[in-house]
Amino acid sequence: MNHPVPEQAADIVARLRATFRTGRTKPLEWRTDQLRRLRALLTENGPQLAAALHADLGKSAAEAHRTEIDFVVREIDHTLDRLAGWLRPEPVPVPAHLGADARAWTQYDPLGVVLVIAPWNYPAQLLLAPVVGALAAGNAVVAKPSELAPATSAVLARLLPAHLDTDAVAVVEGGVPETTALLAERFDHIFYTGNGTVGRIVMRAAAEHLTPVTLELGGKSPAFVDRGTDLDVVADRLVRGKFLNAGQTCVAPDYVLTDPETAAALEPALARAVEAVYGPDPAASAAYSRIVNERHFDRLTRLLDSGRVVVGGVHDRTARYLAPTVLADVDPSAPVMREEIFGPVLPIVTVSGPDEAIAFVNDRDKPLALYVFSDSAGTRERFAAETSSGGLGHGLPLAHLTVSDLPFGGVGESGMGRYHGRWSLETFSHRKAVLEKPLG
Ligand code: NAD
Repeated sequence: MNHPVPEQAADIVARLRATFRTGRTKPLEWRTDQLRRLRALLTENGPQLAAALHADLGKSAAEAHRTEIDFVVREIDHTLDRLAGWLRPEPVPVPAHLGADARAWTQYDPLGVVLVIAPWNYPAQLLLAPVVGALAAGNAVVAKPSELAPATSAVLARLLPAHLDTDAVAVVEGGVPETTALLAERFDHIFYTGNGTVGRIVMRAAAEHLTPVTLELGGKSPAFVDRGTDLDVVADRLVRGKFLNAGQTCVAPDYVLTDPETAAALEPALARAVEAVYGPDPAASAAYSRIVNERHFDRLTRLLDSGRVVVGGVHDRTARYLAPTVLADVDPSAPVMREEIFGPVLPIVTVSGPDEAIAFVNDRDKPLALYVFSDSAGTRERFAAETSSGGLGHGLPLAHLTVSDLPFGGVGESGMGRYHGRWSLETFSHRKAVLEKPLG
């Protein structure tokens, strides 16, 4: 299809850099025009995009709109409404020794040509939401969709050049060879979403050119359930957060930490919630996605021995179907607790209470998200103060990333940098310091 041979990467970057040098991408009008075109692409091609997302991941049309297409439209609208205001230079006070006529301010400068590398799990959202920020900041962009979501990659490779300024926005499809060729080029920023192993490859390549990176990575995001909470509400929210996209969500609750008594009551509550959301046979539910490929399917089914199956466990390799599954009595050293699950398996690990849960979290890599279900303000505050995670959700998984004014990103092993809304402008711009002193 559109796969370039390695030497084409240099040509693409050179062409985009030449455009950037003309200054064409800098005016507010160009930026807002590109964002409106991207918005039109999404609203006019919803069915095509939804069909591609269904082909890649079995996503329902409703979910494709909610978590990918409309998600990016909202991000565009949020940005269009505020961009002119965000771009206004910000005055800062000047010290007296420079005189009363000196002025100082900061202004946002575009960086130049940026590279966005996306993963397969939300293949449209995770390519386009960073592109929104890159364009809003006045950059030229090379967008590299994931080869593991080939239908979505192909649709985006066709639609983006048809709607956007092709001298400033390029799509490069492909996998490791194509991405490796791109990474040999000099970019002004690299925005990577995916796993930490490739994150390290990206950062190493970026270091050659002193290119700054944003790494949106993953990891095991814990959910702590406190004693005495309404377990039907907790189970409903856990199920919706965990099994969305068949658990293939970077901020999905990876595992549950709770005390043994609460665990015993949570197990049937989770079973009821799975049935309420997906019906008695989730395989027949249009709302339930499929595992992206056989490799991930095999990896996930191997994890099912890590505990007592309380809910689900049913699977079908030819359909890449793995039922929403809850595992109880899981040992902290079991295989399911040794890697990010990234699929529809929810282990429950028992702890004595908040103290042990906090220690458990702090003994491991800093997660991308941490969820706390507690009616005690004191307990919620303790988690906020005593743990470190990319984001913290009290009472509701996943939803923090839909708040455009909240920065979205990881910390430590879950990544570096942040985006969404104004935070994307920060990421894709240089905040230039300016001082002015009249000559007279
Ligand atoms: P993936 O396999 O699609 O890889 C991501 C990108 O890296 C792809 O575009 C791929 O082509 C590229 N890539 C793969 N190997 C490469 C190599 N050797 N050199 C250069 N580029 C290479 O997706 P994935 O990594 O399996 O995604 C899942 C991971 O991403 C999970 O850990 C998940 O938590 C994380 N994730 C994080 C976020 C976030 O916003 N923080 C969002 C989604 C997924």
